[in-house]
Amino acid sequence: MNAITPAPVPGLLGAIGNTPLIRLGRASAATGCEILGKAEFMNPGGSVKDRAALAIIQGAEARGELRPGGVIVEGTAGNTGIGLTLVGNARGYRSVIVMPETQSQEKIDFLRMIGADLRLIPAKPFKDPGNYVHYSRRLAEELNAADPGSALWANQFDNLDNREGHRRTTGAEIIAQAGGRVDAFTCACGTGGTLAGIALALKAHDATTRVVLADPMGSALYAWRKTGTPEMSEGGSITEGIGQSRVPGNLEGAPIDDALQVTDEEALEQVFDLTLHEGLCIGGSAGINVAAAVKLARIMGPGHRIVTILCDGGARYQSKLFNPEFLRSKGLPVPSWLA
Ligand code: PMP
Repeated sequence: MNAITPAPVPGLLGAIGNTPLIRLGRASAATGCEILGKAEFMNPGGSVKDRAALAIIQGAEARGELRPGGVIVEGTAGNTGIGLTLVGNARGYRSVIVMPETQSQEKIDFLRMIGADLRLIPAKPFKDPGNYVHYSRRLAEELNAADPGSALWANQFDNLDNREGHRRTTGAEIIAQAGGRVDAFTCACGTGGTLAGIALALKAHDATTRVVLADPMGSALYAWRKTGTPEMSEGGSITEGIGQSRVPGNLEGAPIDDALQVTDEEALEQVFDLTLHEGLCIGGSAGINVAAAVKLARIMGPGHRIVTILCDGGARYQSKLFNPEFLRSKGLPVPSWLA
């Protein structure tokens, strides 16, 4: 059973984190390893990014970078925007969220529902000045030019409060929940805050823990870990929030031992399997992570304890991952109960 928090927590902020570490029965049985998934979909905003949002806002408050009633501006695939908006609402800040229009309708609807000032823009590569990250930085600069000190650019990719929050909370929780023994950890990267923060915590606790970056097709991070140079791989992925064309500040210097590539087919197999047989309806990046954990288990052999992250839930992608028309349009398999 989960430990029950003994006392009431102070509002939303006290409800972020302390997520269960779930033993994944079928992945464990299939590999002879113990595969554990950190249930980040159980955060109030529905994703692992609540933690980064909280850490970034608390860091800015501590440094006096956010004035009461100020505006938080961020470019995001959606989940960070949801976290920033919810934490911002609870702390008295407004949020302006810039997002590529390719992201799921569910995330768009949720951001509007919770009061974000949402700016949907065309998806552009990072090197294009119209990319959502640059767009959000300029927006914050404009707000600050009109009213100095009014806006904070959260800058999740390079703001190290992101990975520090994960080192302090997610990493420490995993060590405690795993009884102090983690043989390996794997997860995919958007900003890299989750992977780097957890890697730092695990390596400080036990330098022999193996840390492996999981990368979707089309991302440059696999090549970066293997050769030192970020180079985009062939193919692409329908997963959201992960994969990069460059190395974000949060990943730099992180203790990562190796990297694995995972296809959408492999990820979806886990998404559908966990949904139907274990009642864990997870999103695409979580599917990439579980598939990577299974690959790693096969490489390491039976008897190891491998931890990964269940970043968000499948309901956030109902219109994509669980939509037969969408899956067919991408040449991906449709699960039997939806066909
Ligand atoms: N999965 C999902 C669904 C996400 O939204 C994100 C964040 N963009 C990640 C994984 C990756 O997390 P991080 O930014 O900490 O690398």
